[in-house]
Amino acid sequence: MEDCTFCKIIKGEIPSNKVYEDDEILAFKDINPLAPVHILVIPKKHISSTDDLEENDEKLVGKIFTVLKNLAKENGLKNGYRIVNNCGKDGGQEVKHLHFHLLGGRKLEIKV
Ligand code: AMP
Ligand code: ZN
Repeated sequence: MEDCTFCKIIKGEIPSNKVYEDDEILAFKDINPLAPVHILVIPKKHISSTDDLEENDEKLVGKIFTVLKNLAKENGLKNGYRIVNNCGKDGGQEVKHLHFHLLGGRKLEIKV
């Protein structure tokens, strides 16, 4: 996707602070952190949102959750953390490339 910020990050066209990478997944620090730990985990394949997931993406999403769990541990989030996925306009999705926010490092308030 030519106009996708996260695809540009994957291609190295936009700099990012990477914390994990494999052949299918990339994780990097959010540019505007809302908590002491705020990491975004994304598939390297462009998928616009949760709404665009297909059956053959099930394994990839499962792997993303393993990466999220491992990053939580590596970042010392032993008291817990939050994983957020915003989907579409009402969900508050700004970047149209599937991503999961890993948030932690303080007690998070409940907000909708
Ligand atoms: P969402 O509202 O769920 O689409 O979240 C998009 C997130 O991407 C926001 O938390 C932004 O701060 C973050 N973001 C946007 N551009 C960049 C970038 N170039 N590097 C890192 N994070 C970014
Ligand atoms: Zn993309």
